[in-house]
Amino acid sequence: MKVVLSSACKQVQPLLGFQGGITDDQFYRPKDKVLFVMGATGTGKSRLAIDLATHFPAEIINSDKMQVYKGLDIVTNKVTPRECRGVPHHLLGVVDPEYDFAANDFRQHTWRAIESILGRDRLPIIAGGSNSFIDALVNDDPEFRSRHDCCFLWVDVSLPVLHSFVSERVDRMVEAGLVAEVRDFYVPGANNMRGLRRAIGVSELDEYLRAESTADEQTKARLLEEAIGNIKENTCTLACRQLQKIHRLHEKWNWNMHQIDASEVFLRRGKEEAEEIWERQVLGPSAMIVERFLFD
Ligand code: ATP
Repeated sequence: MKVVLSSACKQVQPLLGFQGGITDDQFYRPKDKVLFVMGATGTGKSRLAIDLATHFPAEIINSDKMQVYKGLDIVTNKVTPRECRGVPHHLLGVVDPEYDFAANDFRQHTWRAIESILGRDRLPIIAGGSNSFIDALVNDDPEFRSRHDCCFLWVDVSLPVLHSFVSERVDRMVEAGLVAEVRDFYVPGANNMRGLRRAIGVSELDEYLRAESTADEQTKARLLEEAIGNIKENTCTLACRQLQKIHRLHEKWNWNMHQIDASEVFLRRGKEEAEEIWERQVLGPSAMIVERFLFD
């Protein structure tokens, strides 16, 4: 939160030995607070960030490297305007899909977004699974750490539980129109290692989309089934890698990281009590951590 020096504080300074013209810059300026919500894909980071932003005056900066791009909203699992519940989101669906948005771009845009959020006296919440972006922002930029006081919430879900959820999520994405979305975006022979084309779902559907107009029904059904299987597998692999990276960051930098176990919520999903467990085991403890971080 932006700190405003009170006039009483300014009056005290000369008594403490300051001489000459004193500008605001010469006063000790407490660090600006920034909250990070980290976790592997599918763990509920976006929801937690939004829930917290409805409790504390806050705005969210997306740190998922595929969700920064315009397009492929289903494939990249972007939050919908309804899910945002009026909470402003930055760096979500704004970058040209052909551009290779790198850690350096993320740093620049995030700095700017943080400054503007703090200028509105709100808490910046950086939420997303791309740990290399967060690492670059926090560790490769000494100025960032010297100017900001960071709190890290890590939403954790046991991997077997997460894997079954992620597979079901892919099925729901397919029902929601994932294949048509990739078909519209598909350019035969395009480089799938650039920009938004790196998103899981694009290269996996390549063979099916190439064969779609020529192959017989049986071959098409087989290719589609294989593609969906590969999307599930690659998303599970992504979740494992993201989790490993969080462990590495935790060990390497000894960040003030708070692990919140959300496994129980996933085990009871679809049941009446899931909502209550979310509030008791995830949102409640997270809100307490944030409150201490902001006001202690
Ligand atoms: P790396 O250095 O391996 O890219 P990272 O921490 O920078 O890791 P991750 O978020 O782990 O970034 O993303 C790694 C890869 O996973 C992306 O390049 C992309 O292929 C895929 N990916 C990440 N997020 C999404 C998403 N929302 N939708 C689809 N694919 C994604």
